[in-house]
Amino acid sequence: MNILVEASLEPEVSSTFNVEKIRADFPILNLKIEDKPLVYLDSAASSQMPQPVINRLNYYQTAQHANINRAVHYLSEVATAEYQKARCKLQQFVNAREDREIIFTSGTTDAINLVMHGYGRKFIQADDEIILTTLEHHSNIVPWQMLAKEKGAKIRVVPINEAGELDIHEYKKLFNERTKFVSLIHVSNALGTINPIKEMIAYAHQHDVPVLIDGAQAAPHIPIDVQELDCEFYTFSAHKLCGPTGVGILYGKAEMLESMQPFKGGGDMIASVTFAETTYAEIPHKFEAGTPPIAAAIGFGAAVDYITTIGLEPIAAYETELLNYATIRMLEIPGVNIIGTAANKAAVLSFTIDGIHPHDIGTILNEDGIAVRTGHHCAQPVMQRFNVPATSRASFAFYNKKTEIDALIAGIKTVQKVFL
Ligand code: PLP
Repeated sequence: MNILVEASLEPEVSSTFNVEKIRADFPILNLKIEDKPLVYLDSAASSQMPQPVINRLNYYQTAQHANINRAVHYLSEVATAEYQKARCKLQQFVNAREDREIIFTSGTTDAINLVMHGYGRKFIQADDEIILTTLEHHSNIVPWQMLAKEKGAKIRVVPINEAGELDIHEYKKLFNERTKFVSLIHVSNALGTINPIKEMIAYAHQHDVPVLIDGAQAAPHIPIDVQELDCEFYTFSAHKLCGPTGVGILYGKAEMLESMQPFKGGGDMIASVTFAETTYAEIPHKFEAGTPPIAAAIGFGAAVDYITTIGLEPIAAYETELLNYATIRMLEIPGVNIIGTAANKAAVLSFTIDGIHPHDIGTILNEDGIAVRTGHHCAQPVMQRFNVPATSRASFAFYNKKTEIDALIAGIKTVQKVFL
């Protein structure tokens, strides 16, 4: 943990990052909860939305809304063009080769289900093996379990060590001639561990195995280059990236998406329909049945613009500074245990307090206006690995500041006074 030594204990000092200027973009951060200023430390669940994204959504609804792809009238053409522009913004954001490699979904969960149905149900057979890791969110476990049950396939799981890091040696040992798919979390939502996905993708490719990356917790914090990573699929949700709920993307290599069967059937995903036979549209439309989340996708594009203007590299550096500060302050409190101490970690701090249930911690912190998440974080296998029913989780975004971490530390001391 030598990175901690470099962390500044000085509140509000960050030489390069003007957090007060950024906070002014987020109206919700001015809220008072129980008469106390809101301290929002739950951005890993959903991040907050800046004014430019709110304005973009408002403008779309006020002056641009219509259904897309279906009419020649002015508004439909505007909405179609704006929706397509959003796709191109997402293409640039992840550096995909082509815009048709970006599918709008309702979020990460929907995207993983799309791949399970579109790729898995077509290509995975009885006795085939799918590699997952202990760190996966339920949305990257349950769809594959459903597939395994249907097909008679097997799930193999990469274990983690005490720090919450994947055992890469064990990962490599799991490969054999029956291995047909790898689905991996990039950054753990429960622990913050950043996985060495580039190395893991390259190893899977040595065995001709395609890889899906669940980037729900990575895309808001780490620059993503899907061509450099060379993964077959990458997915994340807008609502963790300062965008609206109800939309996310699936990036897929064009040749993979073309080889897959559609996930959902309906309008807009067809080339022609008769009762005898239906032929499907080209990608990306083949995977966007029905009216898509048009407004949300356009808001997603605005969120990507906002994040790109600030820059993911300064964001990551500032969030690491927050994480290191919070870790040092947390370790000062007797009875507090940090769960997840990976060397390479995003700004997520999961913790337990001896003798106090996580839900009680969350409830008392809420009385001070502090929003943390308590529970299993949709990652029960992680909880089982550490033998805890739940943790409390503070997750930091680039709009948080060190005085908010001080408030969290004071809040934890209050919790201990109340219960111990
Ligand atoms: N994967 C990870 C790592 C997550 O943290 C989450 C949400 O918490 C998801 C997947 C699911 O995302 P969504 O609920 O937006 O589909």
